[in-house]
Amino acid sequence: MNLSLILIYWKVILEIAILWFVIYQVILFFEGTRAIQVMRGIVIIIVAFFVFQRIGLDRLDWLFKNFFAISVIAALIIFHPEIRAGLARLGQKHIFTVQLREEELDLMLKEISKAAEDLSRDKIGALIVIEKNDPLNAFAKNGVAIDSMISSELIQAVFTPNNPLHDGGMIIQGGRISSTGCFFPLAQNQDLSRIFGTRHRAAIGLSEETDAIIIVVSEERSDISLVYRGKLYKDLSQEALFLKAKEIFKLKV
Ligand code: ATP
Ligand code: MG
Repeated sequence: MNLSLILIYWKVILEIAILWFVIYQVILFFEGTRAIQVMRGIVIIIVAFFVFQRIGLDRLDWLFKNFFAISVIAALIIFHPEIRAGLARLGQKHIFTVQLREEELDLMLKEISKAAEDLSRDKIGALIVIEKNDPLNAFAKNGVAIDSMISSELIQAVFTPNNPLHDGGMIIQGGRISSTGCFFPLAQNQDLSRIFGTRHRAAIGLSEETDAIIIVVSEERSDISLVYRGKLYKDLSQEALFLKAKEIFKLKV
């Protein structure tokens, strides 16, 4: 394409770029929440609508036109919690993220995996949350601030029963333990298996709202799970946990 053509069409190109950016951000935003299924449904409805119009199925076209406006309002009401959470996240997006170097990331995940393995062997429950892109400051605030280097011994000490900090979850931000004793929103999903108590529900709940990498050590079953974007990967060994966490941490989205 030559330069003069680009100059003529720069507005169109800019508009397409902005649209692409907005749509991409919206998809990233809702990825892993129940809103993504709704968005898929809406796209199917819009495509069907155009098809009906094109081939002149007038009655179906009429029906769609009339119901579409109502369903937009219905969606706004039904998905009000997701929309509110989404807008809140938009307001607190990180502008500059702390980038960990490869060795720092490896060291951090090695210490955490070792702590998880040792805790599970001792049948001690734990909930460790690693911040990725979405800020966890709001959750860190409701716990006890620590700001410490990460070591498997310190993590184990924190979760040892009868110490004042063991209840709730630990938050890791920018390669440091920022706070412990934090509480997270419980997953609303009623279909979750009965084996999941509040610790696992808090992990799933938080993963539905943020892109944090969450590690749960069960005190009842002494197994290690990793939770990310609403999905739970269970029965992980120390090595499997390390590899899975590293793989997810390196995902761009
Ligand atoms: P486990 O398999 O270890 O028994 P569980 O999923 O069955 O875990 P519970 O037995 O109910 O869950 O675990 C209770 C612990 O989970 C609490 O002592 C507390 O430390 C933690 N916990 C409960 N609710 C929350 C929450 N909303 N946010 C963070 N941690 C929580
Ligand atoms: Mg339990």
